[in-house]
Amino acid sequence: ALPGGAAGRDTIDQSSQDAGTTAKLSLRGVRKSFGDNIVLSGIDLDVAAGEMVCLIGASGSGKSTLLRCINQLEPIDDGVVLLDGQDISEPGLDLGPVRQRIGIVFQSYNLFPHMSALQNVLLAPRRVLRRDSTAEAEALFARFGLAAHMHKYPDQLSGGQQQRVAVIRALAMRPEMMLFDEITAALDPELVGEVLNVLRQLRAEGMTMILATHEMGFARELADRVCFMDGGVIVEQGPPERIFSAPELARTKEFLRSVL
Ligand code: ADP
Ligand code: MG
Repeated sequence: ALPGGAAGRDTIDQSSQDAGTTAKLSLRGVRKSFGDNIVLSGIDLDVAAGEMVCLIGASGSGKSTLLRCINQLEPIDDGVVLLDGQDISEPGLDLGPVRQRIGIVFQSYNLFPHMSALQNVLLAPRRVLRRDSTAEAEALFARFGLAAHMHKYPDQLSGGQQQRVAVIRALAMRPEMMLFDEITAALDPELVGEVLNVLRQLRAEGMTMILATHEMGFARELADRVCFMDGGVIVEQGPPERIFSAPELARTKEFLRSVL
C-alpha cells in the first residue's frame, strides 16, 4: 500500500497479503520492454497460496506479458520473481522445474491433432518427469467430467472440451500454481461456461491461480482480488466487489465503463 492520503495518488493497492507472511508468488519491480515498447514498468504483486487473482485491462496493457514473465517464458529486464521465496528469475536458472511448478494455459489450446486427449495429457509427464501417469491422468479426466472423452481425438471434441483437456494437460504436471491467459476468449459463448466451471472447481480445491480475463462476471464472482493493468503497471487492485462497484481511479472507471 502507498503511504499518504487519497489525493494525488495514481495507484491504489489493496492487496490481501499481510505483511510478514510469505506469499506463494511475489513480484517486485518487474520490468519488461520489447525494443522501445515498455510493457511492464515496475510490477509489484503478491499472490497468497490458494488465492485467485484476476488481471483485467485493455488489450495491449501487458496481461499476457506479465503471465509469461511469471513462469519465465519471457526473461524479465529488471526486478525479481519469487516462488515460495525462491528467485526463479535469476539468469541461468534451469527453467524446466520452474515451468513444471507453474502451469500455464493459453487461449489457443494447441492439442496435438494426431494424438488422443489422453495421449496429449500423458506426453509431458512422460518426457519431462519420466513418469507413467496414466492412472493419474484418467483420474483428472474423471474429476473434470471428461472420462467419456479421453480416447477421442481433438477434432472429435468441442472447443470447450479441448480447452478442458488443455487444462488437464497442465495439471498432469502437478503444478503448484496455474496461470490462465484468456482461456475462454476463442470459444463460442455457449462453451465458455464449461471451461469456467473447471476454474471454479480448481479454486474450490485451493489451487493458486492468476487469470487474465475479459470475463468480468466471472472475475466478480470468483476472484479473491482483481488487478487492473494500464500503462505497464497495476493501477488499482482490490476485492472484486470494490473494484467493480466503487473503482476509485478515473482510469479504472473509464475501463470498466467500456467493458461492462
Ligand atoms: P495484453 O495481454 O494485455 O493484451 P500483451 O502482453 O499481449 O497485452 O501486450 C502488451 C504489449 O507488448 C503490446 O504492445 C504488444 O504488442 C507487446 N508485445 C507482446 N509480446 C511481444 C513480443 N513477443 N514482441 C514484441 N512485442 C510484444
Ligand atoms: Mg493477452
